[in-house]
Amino acid sequence: MMTASQLNPLLGSLTGRTVVSVLQWGMAQLASHGIDEQRLNVELLLSHALDVRRETLYAMNDRILEVDEVDRFHQLLHRRICHEPVQYIMGEAEFMGISLRVNGHVLIPRPETEILVERTLSVLTSIHKDRIDILDIGTGSGNIPVALAVFAPHVSVTSIDVSAEALATAAVNLSRHNISSVVLVQADLFEEFLPEKQFDVIVSNPPYVSSEEFALLEPEVRDFEPTIATTDGGDGLRFIRRISELGAIKLHPGGWLLMEIAYDQSARVTEMLDTCGFSDIQLWNDYQDVPRIVQARLPHAIGAAR
Ligand code: GLN
Repeated sequence: MMTASQLNPLLGSLTGRTVVSVLQWGMAQLASHGIDEQRLNVELLLSHALDVRRETLYAMNDRILEVDEVDRFHQLLHRRICHEPVQYIMGEAEFMGISLRVNGHVLIPRPETEILVERTLSVLTSIHKDRIDILDIGTGSGNIPVALAVFAPHVSVTSIDVSAEALATAAVNLSRHNISSVVLVQADLFEEFLPEKQFDVIVSNPPYVSSEEFALLEPEVRDFEPTIATTDGGDGLRFIRRISELGAIKLHPGGWLLMEIAYDQSARVTEMLDTCGFSDIQLWNDYQDVPRIVQARLPHAIGAAR
């Protein structure tokens, strides 16, 4: 790995420079190291180094940077040049307009997962109960339960994750948003399982990347995001298969299962859900128009009221 001084022989000459010239310089550095979205990245990193909001930078163009500010910015830029995602460097990510703490123990929440939550919220409107019990499998940063609790305050969510570090991060995010309706449980989906409880909805963004595809991922994901949250180390369907089987057991009759899946899994997952006894299987596209969210329902018991 490169050292900071190898990256930047000009570091000394940055001292005494203005905000605008440091921004320009930082963008050129990122460009020369093949990092995209240079303006966005540099503005985020410089505002983080100066401890100001990004918009505030525009009003500071001519401000001369102090030596320690240059130093801080340079260290952050160096991490980005080494491909660390900007959200980890900042320790913050945004999900459905909600700010969340993130670190290398949790996946950075993605826009397609916002679609998963939107679909879940839509399903909730059809459930007429005072309290809706939801199971969230693989909670990571807690993005899904936080968003559900913010937008549907009558839900009661049980969130599980195998990683104690991920659960600690989710706990920080729950308390940051004053949410008390979520229970965090450390559990391995393939070993012991869960409370003697049935759920109205199960939602999950499982590790669905196959080992083959994992090797092809960009370094930002492959080298920095938690591997166990990304890939199952096999065909990509191991968790989806397990969740489908558990869904058939842990959901109330008429309950809903919603999952995020990979771009090429929709046919196989539909078949799997059908085999597990689900009906009303629907797929929803991501922003690239690829089916990435699957929604399915357990049939009601025969003769039961809807
Ligand atoms: N629930 C988190 C997310 O959707 C983490 C998912 C995971 O770890 N696979 O981003």
